[in-house]
Amino acid sequence: MSFANLGLSEAIVRAVTERGYTTPTPIQAQAIPAVLSGGDLLAGAQTGTGKTAGFVLPILQRLSQEPRPAAAHGKAPIRALVLTPTRELAAQVEESVREYGKHLRLHSMVMFGGVNINPQMQKLRGQIDILVATPGRLLDHVQQKTVDLAHVEILVLDEADRMLDMGFIRDIKKILALLPKKRQNLLFSATFSDEIKALADGLLDKPALIEVARRNATADTVAQKVYPVDRDKKRQLLTHLIQEKQWFQVLVFTRTKHGANRLAEQLLKDGITAMAIHGNKSQAARTRALAEFKTGKLQVLVATDIAARGIDITELPHVVNYELPNVPEDYVHRIGRTGRAGCEGEAVSLVCVDEHKFLADIERLIKRKLPREVVPGFEPDPNARPEPIQLRSQEHRPGGGRGHGQAGSRTGSQPAGRPGSKPALGGGRSGPAGPKPAAAKPSSMHRSGGRNR
Ligand code: AMP
Repeated sequence: MSFANLGLSEAIVRAVTERGYTTPTPIQAQAIPAVLSGGDLLAGAQTGTGKTAGFVLPILQRLSQEPRPAAAHGKAPIRALVLTPTRELAAQVEESVREYGKHLRLHSMVMFGGVNINPQMQKLRGQIDILVATPGRLLDHVQQKTVDLAHVEILVLDEADRMLDMGFIRDIKKILALLPKKRQNLLFSATFSDEIKALADGLLDKPALIEVARRNATADTVAQKVYPVDRDKKRQLLTHLIQEKQWFQVLVFTRTKHGANRLAEQLLKDGITAMAIHGNKSQAARTRALAEFKTGKLQVLVATDIAARGIDITELPHVVNYELPNVPEDYVHRIGRTGRAGCEGEAVSLVCVDEHKFLADIERLIKRKLPREVVPGFEPDPNARPEPIQLRSQEHRPGGGRGHGQAGSRTGSQPAGRPGSKPALGGGRSGPAGPKPAAAKPSSMHRSGGRNR
C-alpha cells in the first residue's frame, strides 16, 4: 500500500514522501479513499494514529482539483473548515495543511483565541481555502462579519468528543447553521458517547464508518510501571529517576496548572531544564517551550492534561505521571504520547497513598494491574494516611469555561467519574452520563469563559 495507490496526486505524494512517510497508516488507508469519494465520514481514531493526514491529504486533493469560487463582498470564500477543541491542535493541523500542501496553490489559516484578533482579520482579507479554527474565535469573526462561511464545501470536526467535553456544542451548532446545506462532513472522535452519536446523526449523511484500534494502555510498545512513593518525596524521586536513568525528553503530567509551575521551578533548581505549559501561558510561550522540547534543548516539559492535548511529539521516550489523573481515560491519553509508530516508550506513574483510588480506577479501565517498583531510599511509609486531593486549580475541564466555578465544583476528594466520561468506541456505556454544567449555561456566558477564543 502506498500513498499514490490511494488516488492522491503527485504533488501531494511528493510532500508526504518528503515528510518521510512511506506507508499510509490504517486510518489513512481507509479515510483517504472515503473522503476522496466525496461522502461523509465518521471515524473513530485518536491522536497518534495519523488521523490528521487522513483528512488533510484528501481535502487538499479535492480542493486543488476544483476551481475556487469567486470572492464575494471582498471576502475570500473559505472552502474547507476544520474545527478543533484546542489552540495547539488547531496550530498543528494547520501546520500539516501547509506541509502537505506545499506543492499546491492552496492557502490556509489557523484561527484561535487568546491572541490579538486584528492580524486574523487582516489575513481573512486575503485568499483562504482551508481554515482551521477553534469554535469560539471563529464565532467572534462571524459576529464581526470578517469571515464568510457560505462557501464551505468540506467540514471537519476533529476530536469532536473533546469539543463536546469542553462545552462547545452550542458554538458548533451555531457554526453549522452558517454553512451551506450541501457539503461534505467528516467527524473524528476517539470515543462515541450518546452525545457524539446524536451529533453525528444530525450532521452526517450515510457516512462511511471507520474505526481504528484505540491507542490504549495495553499497547505493547509502552512499558508501564508504578513507583509507590510518599507524597512529599515525589519531586526527589522524579529528579533521581531522570538523573539515574539519564532520561531526556520527558513529558511530565501534573493535575493542576499551579502544580505544573511549581514542579518546573523545582526541577530547574535541581539542575534539570524544565518548563511548564498550560492554558494560562501565552501562546508564544507554549510554542517556544514545545519547540525547545522537540529539539532536545529542554529536557522536561511539565503539562496538564488539557495543555497536552494535541501535542504532537513522535517517538517520545518517557511519559511520567507525576500525579495520576482523576479521570482514568486521561491516563490512556497521557501514555498514548509515548511508544508511537512502533517505538519503545515508557510510562511511569509516581503514586502516593492519596491516589490509590485513582490507580484502581485506571487499572479497572485498562483491565490490567500495573507492576509496582519501590525505589530504594523512597520506600513509602506503610502507616501514611490518605489526604483529600485538591483539584481547585485544575484547568478548564469538561463542560465549562473559565469562570464557571466548574473546576471548583469538582474540588474535593471524590476522585472518579467526570461529567461525560466516555466509553471507547464500541464499548458500552458504564452508566448514565453526569450533568453537564456548561450545557445548561447561557451560551454567552459559556463563550465568554472559553479558553480557545
Ligand atoms: P496524528 O494522529 O495525526 O496526530 O499523527 C500522529 C503522528 O504520526 C504525527 O507525528 C504524524 O507526523 C505521524 N504520521 C502520520 N502519518 C504517518 C505515516 N503514514 N507514516 C509515519 N508517520 C506518520
